[in-house]
Amino acid sequence: MITKSEIAKVLEEIAFLLALKGENPFKVKAYSKAARIIRNLPEQPAALAEKGALTEIQGIGPTLAGTITELITSGSSRLHQELRAPYPSTVLENLLKLAEVPGLGPQHVGLIYERLGVATVGELQYAGVENRLAELPGFGKKTQEKILAGIQRFQRHQGNRLYADVIGEAEELLLALRAVPGVQRAEFAGALRRKNELVQNFSFVLAGEESLHERVRSVPGLQRMVVEKSGTASAVSVQGLPVEFNIVPEQNYGWELFAATGNPQHVEAVTQRLTSQESFDTEQAVYAAAGLSWVPPEMREGYGEVELAMAGQLPSLVETSQVQGIFHNHTVYTDGSATVEQMARAAQALGYRYIGISDHSQSAYYVHGLKEDRIIAQREEIEVVQAKLPGIRIFKGIEADILADGSMDYPDDILASFDFVIASVHSRFNLSEEDQTRRLCRALTNPYVTMLGHATGRLLLSRDGYRVDMRKIIDTAAEQDKLIEINASRHRLELDWRWCRYAKEQGVKFSINPDAHSTEELRNIPWGINVARKGGLTATEVINTLPVGKMAAYLQARRPNLVL
Ligand SMILES: [Zn+2]
Ligand SMILES: [Zn+2]
Repeated sequence: MITKSEIAKVLEEIAFLLALKGENPFKVKAYSKAARIIRNLPEQPAALAEKGALTEIQGIGPTLAGTITELITSGSSRLHQELRAPYPSTVLENLLKLAEVPGLGPQHVGLIYERLGVATVGELQYAGVENRLAELPGFGKKTQEKILAGIQRFQRHQGNRLYADVIGEAEELLLALRAVPGVQRAEFAGALRRKNELVQNFSFVLAGEESLHERVRSVPGLQRMVVEKSGTASAVSVQGLPVEFNIVPEQNYGWELFAATGNPQHVEAVTQRLTSQESFDTEQAVYAAAGLSWVPPEMREGYGEVELAMAGQLPSLVETSQVQGIFHNHTVYTDGSATVEQMARAAQALGYRYIGISDHSQSAYYVHGLKEDRIIAQREEIEVVQAKLPGIRIFKGIEADILADGSMDYPDDILASFDFVIASVHSRFNLSEEDQTRRLCRALTNPYVTMLGHATGRLLLSRDGYRVDMRKIIDTAAEQDKLIEINASRHRLELDWRWCRYAKEQGVKFSINPDAHSTEELRNIPWGINVARKGGLTATEVINTLPVGKMAAYLQARRPNLVL
């Protein structure tokens, strides 16, 4: 049977091949969006197809449903076959890889391949060094430089994948493994189980007979399985990640899972406290023998969690279900794809009791940041929607740019009129560390600012954050009683968890925000929860676990009266 990940992969390739051909971008988007939807689908597409219910999934129209049904029934898609016919399969694989270079879209890739015959990252770099990219239509020297810089970044990050991009496939594999006869227990290990923002491979620990790998071989979605030595095997996932299996006897499963999960510092610190090397069938037993309570996998990073466990002070980590509402959501007023009403309804359907709308401010000209008249128009619209939807409170906010000198993008009288203000940097990333730090700290002293958005502006695997003295920024936020955002977009995931604990110790509270530009992205919160849990945060430190009434009061209490 074809797996969700395999269906998603074909849809993604269709999107890529359409883009390569220079087809309508909306069509391209529809296929790549469908790939994401299928990958994250809680149920099996085959079951839905049987009921004829595929088109009931938002984002799946009749054409897409047809392609998916064809894949389920015949294992392949005619459209896909037709599109890929001109490319030998190794070329296609290489071109897909090429499109991962930051700054290179599929259309560029198509042109580069067609004109220069370049199909690999190495060839691309060589073409750039020889100045051949600059001469392509629409490229120029600047684009060439950007591509060369992108290649360097790509090479640095090679092998790393965003957690949110691969967890769907990993979960599907885990379910399939648990269903294999003879598998007594199965769990993720390594960075995947620690829910790190980036993962390089899938690692599983299975309890069962040594000969189990023969049956594991039959799990759909595993390619090129190799048995390496007794008890270990490796394969490649549909999305191209290396998969490692550790098959262990059940009576020592707890030890093996423990040893394969934590990073080396954590494992070392716990192991040192053990007096004898015995078998442990559960992880709880390992920690108990070390005189510790069980440490949640997310925290096993050697970041002081063993000391907390020794002192009996492990926090009770915040959970997704505790989040009551969500701030930082964009709409069609700027670069979002949904209206205020669509966003509010979708948030309500996800069980949230409040939503904060915050589009971009005026100096963000590239996304039509809001001028005063548009702010007023949006407020009126929010009031109309609010009257229709009494079940969800809509807060009126703004994501205001922090200008280069640290002042905010609106005068005080406008800032004072919002329920909340997110202060974010969207320009001038290249200031010196000192100037950038001063800029952010000044924004945090603005009485109308509620929280700091995406603290360093990093985009995982594509853009490094701007240089700042994070300690100073956290200290200022603490002193000024400002929130710091945990941006839950899979590409951002900051404040980085490595700083959360320090911030918590200074008394800083956080808001876990989806930074949603579509109704689909309202589902980002679990990625932000991963960051919070890794950083040791409890619900008390996450402001948007407050119920709606308390949240409104919190915001109200922090809106200073306008001083004229
Ligand atoms: Zn932003
Ligand atoms: Zn935003």
